[in-house]
Amino acid sequence: MSELYSVRMRAAQGGPHEKGGHHISGAERIVKLEEVGVIAQSLADRALHHSKGTADFINIIVDLIPSNEIIYIDCLEVEEHRAKTIAEAHQLAIEFLQGPEITEVAIQNAITLLKELDSSIRGAMLVDATTGKRIDVGNRGVRVSHMDSFDSEALGDNDHMREALVLASKVQSGKGIVGELCWSDDPDYTVGYVACNGIYHRIPNMKELGSAIGGRVFFVRSDIDRDSIIEYLEKTPVLVQRRHNV
Ligand code: AMP
Repeated sequence: MSELYSVRMRAAQGGPHEKGGHHISGAERIVKLEEVGVIAQSLADRALHHSKGTADFINIIVDLIPSNEIIYIDCLEVEEHRAKTIAEAHQLAIEFLQGPEITEVAIQNAITLLKELDSSIRGAMLVDATTGKRIDVGNRGVRVSHMDSFDSEALGDNDHMREALVLASKVQSGKGIVGELCWSDDPDYTVGYVACNGIYHRIPNMKELGSAIGGRVFFVRSDIDRDSIIEYLEKTPVLVQRRHNV
């Protein structure tokens, strides 16, 4: 196989994220050398033609991934659900997440944290699965990076879901992470998901149509080694593939 490169994009409006710009778009890909140019172009186009507005700051980073550093992980299984209202959708999310690892208090706090964001942040909040306390430092969240999949059959052809499923599969493979709650910041996209116990529960109507506020919460065990899990999420290159036991 030819050498692989990580291509990462994050874009904001009003200047860079770290100087107060608000998050417009982000994406993570792992591609062959000969695809780097085309992918970088398409990610720049995405940031320049986004329903949240036109980015005035776009950061695209490309770096070589040594093949011996890549970890191959299983894709989560997908379950589709129905919910007619936001209240119903959130109730389903609570039912799926709640269990021995994640308390109801933690889930309610996570929902409140997401609802109270006044603009989308570029990364995910880490929340203690027992107490519901946010434990990541700063307010920009942890940005999961260095991931993709070459298994298009396992991931389907819905771009939104493909990217979310890759991200959620990497997140759930992290040691000490026991669940995830997400809804998109794309105003047109109200489908969200929760991931836990190897399943990606896809839930419609997780937020108001037209809302540009979305986010992610990763539920973590209280005894987690926070720095090493952040290192894994940000830096370890991961390729997601179909489960071998199905
Ligand atoms: P999206 O699903 O792309 O609409 O993103 C919704 C929200 O999830 C964003 O506003 C971020 O808060 C968060 N998010 C998106 N991409 C990532 C990522 N790579 N790592 C962590 N959080 C992310």
